[in-house]
Amino acid sequence: MDLYEYEARELFKNHGIAVPDAAVVTSPREARAAAGSLGGRVVVKAQVKTGGRGRAGGVKLAATPAAAELTARQILGMDIKGHVVRKVMLAQPVRIEAEFYVSYVLDRAAGAFLAIASAEGGMEVEEIAASRPESVARVPVDPRCGVDEAKAAEIARAARLPPETVPALVRLWHVLVEEDAVLVEVNPLVRTSTGEILALDGKVTLDANARFRHARWEGPDVTDPGVDPLEAAANAKGLTYVKLDGEVGVIGNGAGLVMSTLDVIAACGARPANFLDIGGGASARVMADGLGVILSDPAVKSVLVNVFGGITSCGAVADGIVQALESVQLTKPLVVRLDGNDAARGRAILAGRAHPLVQQATSMDGAARRAARLARQGV
Ligand code: GDP
Ligand code: MN
Repeated sequence: MDLYEYEARELFKNHGIAVPDAAVVTSPREARAAAGSLGGRVVVKAQVKTGGRGRAGGVKLAATPAAAELTARQILGMDIKGHVVRKVMLAQPVRIEAEFYVSYVLDRAAGAFLAIASAEGGMEVEEIAASRPESVARVPVDPRCGVDEAKAAEIARAARLPPETVPALVRLWHVLVEEDAVLVEVNPLVRTSTGEILALDGKVTLDANARFRHARWEGPDVTDPGVDPLEAAANAKGLTYVKLDGEVGVIGNGAGLVMSTLDVIAACGARPANFLDIGGGASARVMADGLGVILSDPAVKSVLVNVFGGITSCGAVADGIVQALESVQLTKPLVVRLDGNDAARGRAILAGRAHPLVQQATSMDGAARRAARLARQGV
């Protein structure tokens, strides 16, 4: 779960990392007023969940509130790498004396965290790493020890950051741990002409698995163009839905079965359009909700329902499909493979409903082949 810069800044501020004063607005008129209360001169910054905003023209200095209004008008609505700007942040400009790059990221392969830092901040870290690889320090952080002052000093030394950055490095670690983030990045962390250390940009990715520990985290914002609306709708119903870029819609129960279904579809020469995991013990209601979600994706040309009944009763799944056919207008072919617990009853229920667009298959391979063929025919 990625945060916007203005959200990341709040977390930084709460953990004692200094940031320039700022305000977030959604209209040019508000931008003018906010610039006025920030002292007139402001940096106008597009709020989108992608980097490289500066280069794309999404970060601009405005000398007066009137200029801020004009600049906000230019930036709002701008498309930056496929992200439409709906909010801009106005920040008090600072005099940069030096720009640094600092981040902590979860290194899953190593089972540890990695501090990445460079005294050549500003541009994107991939570019720094490509043009001046020797300037990028990578220091493993043992999660059991974390980053105390000594560790932060080690990171600063390795990256040739000035010692004044040490407190910010320690605090940034606290952001990572206490906010349950898997990535925190400040680029640039700057030293101003008055010697202050400030975070001028922020990127934070929270670990969605820790949501239960953070009452303040909101659910996915459906008005946010970065969130697939179907994904949000499915999440709201407690279902795991993921949008992919193929043409076969996939519903299965359990992560393992769903993953292998995706593989089998690929092996049949088709590509999954999305998948929905209805989980163990799926009820008729869940099945009906799930089918509704999958069918509302316009990219879907055929749907494969692959259910192996363990705790889940195939009878309940079949009831769910029949129930869904009452409420959703089926316009695409549906291939259903039911096996395991209560499979005979499930198959009989579907056969009894005899919907012209619903076909049954007995094997997973056969079902995937048929769904792939139907998707190709674009029925
Ligand atoms: P990004 O391009 O998406 O990473 O956006 P940033 O927030 O990092 O802004 C891009 C660049 O604009 C930064 O690297 C800074 O060099 C510059 N910048 C941002 N805010 C200020 C500011 O207050 N004063 C000055 N002088 N430069 C700024
Ligand atoms: Mn940046």
